[in-house]
Amino acid sequence: MYRSHNCGELTATHINTEVTLSGWVQKSRDKGFIVWVDLRDRYGITQLVFDEERTSKDLIEQAQNLGREFVIQVKGTVIERASKNPNIPTGDIEILVSELEILNQSVLPPFTIEDKTDGGEDIRMKYRYLDIRRNPVKNSLIFRSKVSQEVRNYLSKEGFIEVETPYLIKSTPEGARDFVVPSRMNAGEFYALPQSPQTFKQLLMVGGMDKYFQIVKCFRDEDLRADRQPEFTQIDCEMAFVEQEDILNVFEGLTRHLLKEVNGVEVEKFPRMLYDDAMRLYGNDKPDIRFGMEFGELNTVTQHKDFGVFNNAELVVGIAVPGGNSYTRKEIDKLIDWVKRPQVGALGMIYSRCNDDGTFKSSVDKFYDQDDLAKWAEVTGAKPGDLVCVLSGDKNKVRAQLSALRMELAERLGLRDPKVFAPLWVIDFPLLELDEETGHYHAMHHPFTSPKPGQLELLDTNPGDVKANAYDLVLNGNEIGGGSIRIHDKETQATMFKHLGFSEEEAKAQFGFLMDAFQYGAPPHGGLAFGLDRLVAILGGQETIRDFIAFPKNNSGRDVMIDAPARIDDDQLTELSLKLNLKS
Ligand code: ASP
Repeated sequence: MYRSHNCGELTATHINTEVTLSGWVQKSRDKGFIVWVDLRDRYGITQLVFDEERTSKDLIEQAQNLGREFVIQVKGTVIERASKNPNIPTGDIEILVSELEILNQSVLPPFTIEDKTDGGEDIRMKYRYLDIRRNPVKNSLIFRSKVSQEVRNYLSKEGFIEVETPYLIKSTPEGARDFVVPSRMNAGEFYALPQSPQTFKQLLMVGGMDKYFQIVKCFRDEDLRADRQPEFTQIDCEMAFVEQEDILNVFEGLTRHLLKEVNGVEVEKFPRMLYDDAMRLYGNDKPDIRFGMEFGELNTVTQHKDFGVFNNAELVVGIAVPGGNSYTRKEIDKLIDWVKRPQVGALGMIYSRCNDDGTFKSSVDKFYDQDDLAKWAEVTGAKPGDLVCVLSGDKNKVRAQLSALRMELAERLGLRDPKVFAPLWVIDFPLLELDEETGHYHAMHHPFTSPKPGQLELLDTNPGDVKANAYDLVLNGNEIGGGSIRIHDKETQATMFKHLGFSEEEAKAQFGFLMDAFQYGAPPHGGLAFGLDRLVAILGGQETIRDFIAFPKNNSGRDVMIDAPARIDDDQLTELSLKLNLKS
């Protein structure tokens, strides 16, 4: 028996108990005649004491030779500590060791296994198994496990069946590039790794499994923006014989269950916001509603004067920054530089100070008088002491820019408290999105999303105006889930493919299996998927997902620990009927 107890559980109630513990040497203190060793395992730290007087000289010597991260087993008696440590659960006791066995030695770790380590990100990723020994990573993984368990608890109770779907499949278009896997047995042919199990879960509905879920890996070969992973995990769900309302209720229930069980937080019914309103009020389809600072559209109150910049703009829009009138001229100039950074891309920013005495002072006083500026304040909801920041230009661009400014200022003002949870549904997304570069429309969610009833005809005349039965669950400014009611009849699906630019043959070649299935009594169905990594990070009060993933990839999609991706040898290539054609 390696251990009778773990390193986190012994307290004063165990005094005089004989115990056996196993774990890693966190650190030791050597006074010559007495040695203390902190023994660590997943559960905590227990102090061991080796005392010349009470045990043997031999044992002291052995203890003196222990290095950091050695794996040891000790037998001994729980005794009361002379100087107690109130900061840890085992702080009242220590183990007077009578036997010590070294189970394994360790070379000196490349960074300290402490909460605040001296190791940088790269080195910690290379030795991720050591990083996982540290509390912040260990606790994040335990936290993730708890979330997954609660997902399973809730969905199982609701009658959902967990079904695994294959990883070696044919492409599922979700807007990204596929990772592909060459087939040895079918020379020249490739599997794609699923960007999501979308078509499979729909086929499960045709198969009569009316409530499906799966905690599943998805793969998308995208250029990695900050905090994205090429493989990530979804809580993937689908239901048959449901309308949008049914789905929103079930998964609002799941989210509420998680917030309660994991965070101990009770949340009111989630607000619902139309996509169009989210864009108008927050410039963003995943608004952070923990704070206000809603957009005020200023076209009608600004475009009657001689200020060309505003007159020529498609949209003039502002926000009130609470207490922003206290900013110095220099600070405002810095803010203007911030919005002009290429990442944000604004051409400039106009502002109006709202003085405590009810007067205003703007950067465009030449064009706008006090009455005009009072209207700016009214439309943006600015109070005396605030600062109105105004951007103008192309509608979509300006909304994105002002949204970035709103989030940045909220961060600076401390309005994005990670302990506050503000979920909402964003509904009625457009069905299609115009790709500015190609001039083609593509599915905003995916090609299997149904249009709102009665809007199919609009596809021919005003494709951009067609709304979808699609919804996103947003939490604290992050999209944590999204889904839709699906098309479930062959004709509508064929029409959809046609509008997305597929020829009949292409649609048949790629999605024949789905269209075929729809001929055999496909039930009305819909679903959604949560991004588990992000959800866990937000519930855990963190911005980045990496610590919640046991073995994450870096920004170039590499696993620096196992050194992947890697070349394969020529024999393997030949076996796969592949030849490399490398540029350099
Ligand atoms: N497959 C979709 C996605 O990955 C989710 C869904 O529509 O259920 O975003």
